[in-house]
Amino acid sequence: MSINGKHALVTGGGTGIGLAIARALAEQGAQVTITGRRQVVLDEVAGGGLHGIAMDVTDEAQVRDVIDAAVDARGPLQIIVANAGIAEGRKLHKTDTALWRKIMATNLDGVFWTVREGMRSMLGTDWGRVLAVSSIAGVRGLPGGGAYSASKHGVIGMMRSLAEDFLGAPYTFNSICPGYVDTDIITRNVDAIKDRAGISADEAKQIMVQSNRHNRLIAPEEVAAAALWLCQPGSESVNGQEIMIAGGQVVGR
Ligand code: NDP
Repeated sequence: MSINGKHALVTGGGTGIGLAIARALAEQGAQVTITGRRQVVLDEVAGGGLHGIAMDVTDEAQVRDVIDAAVDARGPLQIIVANAGIAEGRKLHKTDTALWRKIMATNLDGVFWTVREGMRSMLGTDWGRVLAVSSIAGVRGLPGGGAYSASKHGVIGMMRSLAEDFLGAPYTFNSICPGYVDTDIITRNVDAIKDRAGISADEAKQIMVQSNRHNRLIAPEEVAAAALWLCQPGSESVNGQEIMIAGGQVVGR
């Protein structure tokens, strides 16, 4: 058995980690629906098994309608990768309610709606994989990022609970937890940190590089390799788990 011909959904699949995962799945023959808010970004990378359609994960009705349209076009979803997310850092006691809600709407509501709506078609099939992109901030506190950390802890709780709900069924539910990965999120973080701390962009980047204990940023393709394994036959004994891809951060968990 392989994932050749299977229909996969990757939210936030037009850039960064999501795009690397989508491409890895497509290389194995999957038909991959990729989503994000910017159709123009999706159009740039579409082709070769990637099908781009705009979807804002903070809009429940849109998530349902877009997933229904994708299922009509390419059949039931058998791989769901809930990857879309935002990272805006602020100490929790200085986080206003608008920022809290924005982060929760994308990182928690968005994962919930994506998974719930995507699973409606998956449950009519005899094989499925659900994978959430959490973060090392989902397994430990993140200095200066309490709302983000809370949202990423929540994602892990969703996957663990689903794994319990479907024990013995032919589906698995896992999370991957990257450290600092070389994507647009890092570029935006560098800008935010340098402005806040009054340091140079290079110094701000070094903070993240050194947090990954192997002293470099992680490539999106490294995260995609782990995601691909979890989304393929052969990984069924791994269920309700979190895989750290973080250069040695969070050792001994
Ligand atoms: P990117 O900014 O490249 O990816 C985020 C993606 O999410 C974009 O494609 C974006 O597309 C999409 N997105 C954001 N908000 C929404 C929304 N409301 N509706 C639909 N799509 C949305 O960064 P990464 O690839 O790094 O991030 C991917 C995931 O990895 C995130 O969940 C992030 O938290 C997680 N992560 C990243 C780490 C890193 O160091 N890079 C570390 C740990 C976890 P668009 O803007 O077009 O909507």
